[in-house]
Amino acid sequence: SNVPGIELNSGHTIPQLGFGVFQIDPSETAEKVGKALEIGYRHIDTAQMYGNEAEVGEGIRQSGVGRDELFVTTKCNNSNHGRLDSQKALDESLEKLGLDYVDLYLIHWPLPGKDLYVDTWKGFEEALKDGKVRSIGVSNFQTHHLDRLAEETDTVPAVNQIELHPHMQQMALRSYDERHGIATEAWSPIGQGKGVIDEPVIEGIAKKHDKSGAQVTLRWHVQLGNIVFPKSVTESRIQENFDIFDFELSDEEMGSIAELEKAERLGPDPDKFD
Ligand code: NAD
Repeated sequence: SNVPGIELNSGHTIPQLGFGVFQIDPSETAEKVGKALEIGYRHIDTAQMYGNEAEVGEGIRQSGVGRDELFVTTKCNNSNHGRLDSQKALDESLEKLGLDYVDLYLIHWPLPGKDLYVDTWKGFEEALKDGKVRSIGVSNFQTHHLDRLAEETDTVPAVNQIELHPHMQQMALRSYDERHGIATEAWSPIGQGKGVIDEPVIEGIAKKHDKSGAQVTLRWHVQLGNIVFPKSVTESRIQENFDIFDFELSDEEMGSIAELEKAERLGPDPDKFD
């Protein structure tokens, strides 16, 4: 396919564009995953929290796409922190997905009040050695959480998956990730479909390229080097979000999107979320 691969510090390669399945009802997840795979997506982002891992697995099996062509991410739920609990939860995920390994396992939130993310990470390192996962990473980690992993453990996360879109550009965290060899994944990349993609600046750029605001926003991410996995249950949009590799934003257009920064979160502040 025409989706670029990003090489992770684990040596494995992740497709830069994937399909996110947060808030896709289990009853339609297999069908939507099947649709995405038919269109050409080869990277699926799910989580224990989303309650649809079994249906993701079903969609994968029905598609007939080979395991070695696919990149599957799941995330350790907030209730499963701890060295042993995180590994037990991974076993359950594998069972539900019907896979014998996942490509990427993430700590979903750092939960600083629980203060178990370092222990959880040690569990992840063991799961990596056991071959149950090919790469391990984190989500919603701030620089000081990453600093603690660096001080107290042996493995640099392969990715940090954070809220990131034109209204929340995360410059400091992105530059930290880059300096430490951590790939940045952007969640809610199109700002959940409202606000960001209908900014006049983005609509203007979209018109010039005969693309949609969602496509321009996803293209902005790709040119910055971010990994994205927009979610949709609408077939035309699943297709639209995939068609972002046949045009390019100029430096000037990238610059005008950079000016939309507002440090505005749609989700929780990781330092205050337990
Ligand atoms: P998103 O930015 O992908 O927006 C999705 C919404 O935008 C859809 O529900 C739909 O309403 C709309 N939409 C989709 N395609 C569109 C198009 N082409 N044109 C117009 N509107 C469109 O937001 P998201 O679902 O929150 O994030 C994507 C993925 O990121 C999730 O599915 C999940 O995999 C991941 N995620 C992770 C975390 C985390 O804490 N790690 C949190 C949220 C999401």
